[in-house]
Amino acid sequence: MKGALDMKKKNEKKGSIWIGLLAAVLLCALAWNTFWRQTHTPSEAAPARDTPVPPPVTIMNTDGSAHEDFGNVESPVLPGQDLSGIPTDEGGLPSGYGAADNDLWYLILVNNQHPVPDHYTVDLVEVAGGEQVDVRIYDPLMEMLEDAKEANWGQAPVVVSGYRTFDDQQRIYDDKVKKYRRQGYADTEALELAGQYAALPGCSEHQLGLAVDINGATYDVYLWLQENSYKYGFIFRYPGNKTGLTGIAEEVWHYRYVGPEAAAEIYEQGICLEEYVQN
Ligand SMILES: [Zn+2]
Repeated sequence: MKGALDMKKKNEKKGSIWIGLLAAVLLCALAWNTFWRQTHTPSEAAPARDTPVPPPVTIMNTDGSAHEDFGNVESPVLPGQDLSGIPTDEGGLPSGYGAADNDLWYLILVNNQHPVPDHYTVDLVEVAGGEQVDVRIYDPLMEMLEDAKEANWGQAPVVVSGYRTFDDQQRIYDDKVKKYRRQGYADTEALELAGQYAALPGCSEHQLGLAVDINGATYDVYLWLQENSYKYGFIFRYPGNKTGLTGIAEEVWHYRYVGPEAAAEIYEQGICLEEYVQN
C-alpha cells in the first residue's frame, strides 16, 4: 500500500514537472512571438528586397480624391474626406508647370485635379532593379540611395516603381476592378472600391518619371529619407498630415524630385507640393 502511495506521489511529481515544462515552452513561444512581431512589423511596410514586391497602385476615389496603395495602406483617403484644399484652378499655376522641357520641369504638379499634360515626353534611364526614371533625376537619386545605405544596415534601398505609362496605370486600375468582381462585388460596387485604391490613368505622378517608390527593407531608411531627402532634391511627397491637400494617404516609400531649392523650402516649412506651387 505504501509502495502504491509512493508511486502515486512520484507520478504526481512527474506530472507537475511536465506541466512546468509545458508552461515554460509556452512562455518561450509567447516571448519569441512578441519579439518577432516587434522586430518584423516595420518590414511589412518595407518588404524584404528578395520578396517579390507588388507594384504600388495609384488610386482614384469616386469623389475625385486619390491615393496610392502599396498593398498595405492603412489609412486610404476615403470618399467624403475634405479635399477642398486641392487646387482646382488650372490657371492658378505658374505657366510652364506642365511642360516637360520647361525650366521648371521639376515642379510640375500632378494630382487628381492636374493630370499629366498631353504629349508629355520623358527621357528615361534604367536604375538598379530594372525600373526607369527621368534621366535628369538619375544622379541625385543614386547619390541619395547610396547615402541612405548607412541608415539601412549597409543595404542600398531599391527603386521598386519608377516611371509608369498611361497603359500601366490603366492595367493597375482594371486589375483592381477585376479583383473586387472576383470577390463577389457587383459591378458598380467593384468600380467604387477600385476607385478607392487605384488612380485613374493620367493622374499618377509616376507617369512623369520624377517619382519613385523605394523599398528600404527596413523602416529606419524611411525615417532617414524623411530627414535627408531634401538635400538631394527629393521630397516626402505624401505625409500623413497633408492627405487633405494631396488626396493621397501617407506613403513613406514614395519620393518625388522637385529640385534642391524647392525641396529644402518644402522640408523646412513642413508644406506639401500643392502648397508650394500655389505660393
Ligand atoms: Zn508611388
